[in-house]
Amino acid sequence: MSGTNCIFCKIAAGQAPASIVYESQEVLAFKDIAPAAPVHILLIPRKHIVNVASATPEDAAVLGQLILVAGQVARDLGLTEGYRLVTNTDKHGGQSVYHLHFHLLGGRYMSWPPG
Ligand code: 5GP
Ligand code: ZN
Repeated sequence: MSGTNCIFCKIAAGQAPASIVYESQEVLAFKDIAPAAPVHILLIPRKHIVNVASATPEDAAVLGQLILVAGQVARDLGLTEGYRLVTNTDKHGGQSVYHLHFHLLGGRYMSWPPG
């Protein structure tokens, strides 16, 4: 159930390189190729889910895992001052890769509201 030509499906399948910081049967966390903060990790389900807007109740468990793994990765990376966890969704959300992912951003102060 991979997305056609989906870069994150390729990373999940080991067919494209990534700097992986955590992986399990269901989820993967790796460094963003163009970091927007000193720490910038992407967390994805291995399953090709397009975004939150198209997630279904059967995705509930993996969505929960992504958030819990984000917390664990943040602890492992020493983000003791806090961090931001966001998922850009569709056009107005600024989504550019249409495979659901959370951005874990840390290592500097994050202003609010975002642009
Ligand atoms: P979005 O704009 O969809 O919220 O976030 C997509 C993110 O994926 C961007 O921060 C972008 O830098 C990152 N990205 C795009 N292609 C790749 C890639 O091939 N490898 C990695 N590690 N990150 C990527
Ligand atoms: Zn995909």
